[in-house]
Parts: sequence; structure tokens; C-alpha cells
Amino acid sequence: MEPALTPRPAPPHAARVKTPALLLAFAASGLLFTSPATAASGPRFYGDPPDDHHPWAVHDGNRPQPPRVSPGTFSQPDQAGRPPSDAIILFDGTDLSQWQGEKGAPAKWLVKDGYMEVLPGSGEIRTKEQFGDCQLHLEWAAPAKVEGDGQGRGNSGVFLMGRLEIQVLDSYNNVTYADGHAGAYYGVNPPLCLPLNPPGQFQVYDIVFRRPIYRDGKVADPGYITVFLNGVLVQDHTPLEGAGGHMGRSKPGPFPEKGPLSLQDHGNPTRFRNIWYRPLPPRPAEGGTDGWLSTDAALAKRQEIAATIRADAATLHNTDNPLPEMLRLFESLVYADDTAARQRATELAAAYLATLKSLPAEKLTPKRDEVRYLNDVFRYLARHKIVPQDFAPKAAVEQLIREQGWDKRRP
Ligand code: MG
Repeated sequence: MEPALTPRPAPPHAARVKTPALLLAFAASGLLFTSPATAASGPRFYGDPPDDHHPWAVHDGNRPQPPRVSPGTFSQPDQAGRPPSDAIILFDGTDLSQWQGEKGAPAKWLVKDGYMEVLPGSGEIRTKEQFGDCQLHLEWAAPAKVEGDGQGRGNSGVFLMGRLEIQVLDSYNNVTYADGHAGAYYGVNPPLCLPLNPPGQFQVYDIVFRRPIYRDGKVADPGYITVFLNGVLVQDHTPLEGAGGHMGRSKPGPFPEKGPLSLQDHGNPTRFRNIWYRPLPPRPAEGGTDGWLSTDAALAKRQEIAATIRADAATLHNTDNPLPEMLRLFESLVYADDTAARQRATELAAAYLATLKSLPAEKLTPKRDEVRYLNDVFRYLARHKIVPQDFAPKAAVEQLIREQGWDKRRP
């Protein structure tokens, strides 16, 4: 892990914040970010605080860092690319050990030269692994020898959760019903366009799938499918209307949590290679805490964050220096109020200010930046109504700053 205590440089728009440089300098001193358990990535008391739908502040230094992923490489016509580092590989070109045929029978499709090929008549194959929401990557090639037409030319299919078909078809120079082309959400929504390579060449699918979520028989999130075909958008966050299918009107409805990925045997020797997926984090509708949350969910998460910060504050207890614990407790109030935490923070502030007042001038002077930072903190808390405007420690800090002339520009 990279050093967690180094704040990022202030973004360009930070200039409108009164003293970001001071704040960041203070943060860099380590006084704020003293606990590895709460590895900070940015400033606190900075952007707008959490609200009824967002458990995090804007630019929240407590918000977890996104995981690092090493990107893979793009495929070339004769060479499959390398998946990103966190991908779960379903087919790497060597064998069908992760696949099975109908009723759990061994998958009978051919494996050759880094691809698998439909063995017509052997039936669909599906992954042993079951999964739900995902980013899915796979590549397919219709037979180089063009045979048949319409739905009979290079037909196969990618069935997400074994249900929802994204069509595989040689649509390079082929006419069929629009909602049956390559890139179609079969029987429901045609692709936006047909960006295909000629048959025989591999075509790349990058799919983002979000299953429908129902609660108490009502839709909480309809689910969506986004598909890129050879890097070109062909399904644009299309809302789900069930599995899709042949001739019948598909109807919206719930999906289970997981299902296999299956590939269709439609009687054509279509090829596949480089199949991998990345599971996606939960949406707010299923307990995720990024995005627009319900009031109840935001409040619950805010209380959880506040509790974590208070637990961290307890580890910072230091009678010689009450400031870190105090700041952390005030920070917790930004997420959720708590009488005991508020009282403790206020007591620590009083103790801190009493200590400052007792210091001789030569020991007080080096505290200038610290006190000015605390002033910014109290102003932030008052501005967002987390403490009252006439909060006594705030007034005391302002008075100290005036007395010391710390509110004046340095010569
Ligand atoms: Mg098909």
C-alpha cells in the first residue's frame, strides 16, 4: 500500500476554500491522520457534509480508496488480449474445465488454437461458476465460410445468468429482424448499430450487466444491460424486460441472485475466446453505499461511519495532546450526532484551549498553524450547523487568533 498519510495536492477549484494550503499542510503534519486503521486519502472538514442521500462528504478523506487494478491489453485479430488483474477467467483458450453441458455433462465443444468452437448438435454449454452483476468480456467469430442467411448465419448467443440473450450472429452483411442482430438484447431491443468485422474474424463484446432487483413484489431497480461491440456502443444502459426470447413478448420480472453464463448451440460452428468477468459492487437498491441512497440507508451508513471514527478517536487518547482525539470526535459529528461524543469533544476543546493559554509566548507561537486550522474546523462545523455559531470553543479560538495577530497577513 502506498503511504496513506500523504494528502493529494489541492484540486484547482480548491482556491475558493479559504485556506486549503494551510489545511493540507496541517494534514501533512500527521496530526490528523495518525491511525493506519483509518487510512486517510484527503482532507476533512472540507467539502459539503453528508446529507439525507449521501453518507459521505464531498471529497471525503474517510471514503475508502478504490482498489487498484492492473489493466490488461486489447486483443488483436490474431491474438487475444490479456485480462485485467482482477478478472475471473472463464476461458483462457486452453480447456473447458470451467464449463459443462446440459445436466452437468462434460462440455463437448471443440478447443483449438486458443478458441472454443460450437459442436453443432451437442447443446449449449454453461459455466460451473454462477454470478450476477458483472462486467463481461468475450470474443466470438462467426464461421469464415458464409452459409445460410438471416438467423441461420453464424448464430449463437451469450446468455447472462443463463437467461438473457445478447445475440451472436454474423450480421456483417446479413438481413434479419432488427432485434435479432448481433448486439441485440434478443427479441427486446436491437443494437444501436452493426459495427462488425467480416465473418471469420473475432468480434469483441464488452458487457455491463445489472440484474433486476425486486422487493416485496415491486421493482427496486429494473436492471440494465450495456454492450459494446468492437468498442462501439450497441446497448446503451437498456432497461431489462425479462430474459427476452423468440416470438414471445418478454415481461419484466425478478432474477435470482446468481446464474451461470451460457453459450448457445444454434447449429453453427461459431467460435469464442478470451472470456472473463469482473463482479460489480452492489447498487444502493441492494445495500451498496455509493450513489443516491434512500434516507434510511444514508442515515444507517452515516451512523456506521461515525461509529468507526469514534472508535478511532478512542485510540488517539493522549492527555498531553488532546487535539487528535478532539478533532476525530468533532469529525464523527459531521456524520451523526451523539451526545456523549459531542460532550467529550467539547471538554477536550476546553482542555486544549486552557493548555494553550498557559503556554509562554515562545511555546505558543509555533502553535499558530494548528490554531488557525482549528479555527477553520470550527467555522466549517458552524457553517454546516454541526455546532452553533456561538459555540464557546470557536469564540475562544477566534479570540486567541485576534490577540496573537494570527489573523493578519504575514509581512
Ligand atoms: Mg442466438
